[in-house]
Amino acid sequence: MATLQSSISTTSRSPAVIIPSTSLTISYPTLQNLISNFQKNLAAIGITPHSPVSIALPNNLEFIVSFLATAAQRGIAAPLNPAYKQGEFEFFIDDVKSKLVVVPRGAVSAGAPAVKAARKFGVAVAEVWWDDRRGEVCLEVLEKGGLRDGANVERAQSEDVALVLHTSGTTGRPKAVPLTHRNLTKTMGNIVQTYKLTQEDKTYLVMPLFHVHGLLAGFLAPLLSGGTVIVPVKFSASEFWKDFTKFKANWYTAVPTIHQILLKSPLPAQIPPIRFIRSCSSPLSPTTFHALEETFKAPVLEAYAMTEAAHQMTSNPLPPAKRKPGTVGLGQGVEVAILDGDGNEVAQGKEGEISIKGVNVTKGYINNEKANAESFTSTGFFRTGDQGKKDEDGYVIITGRIKELINRGGEKISPIEVDNAISSHPSVGEAVSFAVDSEMYGQEVGAAVVLKSGKKVTEEGLKKYVGEKLSKFKVPTRIWFTEHMPKTATGKIQRRIVAETMLRGDK
Ligand code: ATP
Ligand code: MG
Repeated sequence: MATLQSSISTTSRSPAVIIPSTSLTISYPTLQNLISNFQKNLAAIGITPHSPVSIALPNNLEFIVSFLATAAQRGIAAPLNPAYKQGEFEFFIDDVKSKLVVVPRGAVSAGAPAVKAARKFGVAVAEVWWDDRRGEVCLEVLEKGGLRDGANVERAQSEDVALVLHTSGTTGRPKAVPLTHRNLTKTMGNIVQTYKLTQEDKTYLVMPLFHVHGLLAGFLAPLLSGGTVIVPVKFSASEFWKDFTKFKANWYTAVPTIHQILLKSPLPAQIPPIRFIRSCSSPLSPTTFHALEETFKAPVLEAYAMTEAAHQMTSNPLPPAKRKPGTVGLGQGVEVAILDGDGNEVAQGKEGEISIKGVNVTKGYINNEKANAESFTSTGFFRTGDQGKKDEDGYVIITGRIKELINRGGEKISPIEVDNAISSHPSVGEAVSFAVDSEMYGQEVGAAVVLKSGKKVTEEGLKKYVGEKLSKFKVPTRIWFTEHMPKTATGKIQRRIVAETMLRGDK
C-alpha cells in the first residue's frame, strides 16, 4: 500500500538521517521505531484521523519524526516556516483549522509567535525535543486546546490526506493544497527514477522541509531509495562544503539563489565528487547553469515543480541523455501538455499554458471553488498558470507565469527571456523584469538590476546590450539599479513586489 511510512526503506543498511551539528546518525530501523513511538504519543494525546497538525519546527529530527508520525496516525501534517511572525501563523493555523501546533522545547515559556497564534484560536500546543539519553523524540502537551486524550492508534490509507501545504503566494494569496499519501509516494517514486537514486546516494539537504522542494526532493525521495539525508538546521554557505565533504554527500537540490550564493562563496581546495546538482523552483539562467557545471564539475539538472503536483513535474535527464539549459526537461512520470484557452493542445513549438496530469497531482485546493473551477480542464488536466512550449525533443521551456507576462500593446513578452538577456551581461549579478504602466502601450518592460560587486554599467549601456540580443519591443524602457532584490522565504522572485518596490523608490 502506498503510504509514507510503508514507502520508507526498511532494508537499507545506509544511515537514513545524519544531523551534522551533533553527527547523530539514525538508521532506517531506528527511524521506523521513532515514528511508531511518536505515533503512539500522538494517539495518546488525542490526534484522530484527519486532524490537521501544524508543525512549526526547523529542519531537524523533531520535524522529521513529528511529520512522519502525524501522517502514520492518519493526521494531516501542516508544516509551517518556524520564522513566521504571529500574524502569519494565525493565517495558516486558522486556514487549515489546526487541532495541534507542534513547537520546539521552550517555545511556550518564551511566548513564541506560533504559541501566541495557537492561543488566539484555542488550539492545543505541544513541545517536542530530542532526548539523547533515551534516544527518543519526546512530546509534551502544554496547552490542551480542544484535544481529548486517548485516541486509537490508526493505520494510514493511501487516499488519506497526509500533508497540507500552501503555495508560495507568488501571484496572490497562498492557496491550501491537500496531498494524499498516494500523491506524495508517486512523486517520491518519480524522483527516484529520474535521478536513479539508490542506497549509495547521500544528499545534503539545504532547502526547508516546510515546502515541497525540500520535503519531497530533498528528503522523502531519498528515503524511498534507502539513501542518506544529511540535515543541517539551515543552509549556510560556509558549512556547506565542510559538511558535504565530511559526510561524503554526492548530490543536492536547491533553488537558483542558493546555487548563486555557493558560486560567490569561497570554494574548498578540492571540490568533492558530485554525481549531479538539481535546480528547481525558479528559473535557472543559462549563465548560472554553465558557471555551476564548470565550477562544481557536475551535471546540472533543472527541474520544474509546484506544490499542487506534490513537487516535481519535469526534469532534465541524467547523462548520457541530453540536458538543455534554459529548459526544464521532460515530464517525469507526469503527462505534460501545452493547452490553449479552450483546453486543446497547441501545435509543437507553439506557446500555451503548461498543463499536467498524474497520480501526484492534488484533487483540488481547500475552500477555493473558484481556483478549482479554473484549474482543472474537462479532460482532467491541471492548468499550472505557467506559460510555455515544447521544443523539437519535447523539452519544456517555461516562458513565464501567465499572470506575470508583460503585455505591450497586445504583444506578450516573457519576463524570463528579458531577465536572461540582461543577466548575461558580465557586470550583472541579478535581473528581474516586470510590467510597468505605459500610456502608449498599456504596459512596457521595466527591470531591476543588482550589479556584481565592483562592476559598473550605465542604464543606457545595458539597454544597448539587451537591444543586441532581443527585439526592440522587449528591451526595458526603464532600468532601476538596486542593492537588494526582494524575495520570498524560498528565494522566489515576486515580480509584483519588485515592481512595487522600484516604483515606490521613485516617489
Ligand atoms: P502561488 O501559486 O501562490 O502564486 P507559487 O506558484 O510560486 O505561488 P509554488 O507551488 O511554490 O507556488 O511554485 C510553483 C511555481 O514555481 C510554478 O508554477 C512555476 O511558476 C515556478 N517554477 C518552479 N520550477 C521552476 C523552474 N525550474 N523554472 C521556472 N519557474 C519554476
Ligand atoms: Mg502557483
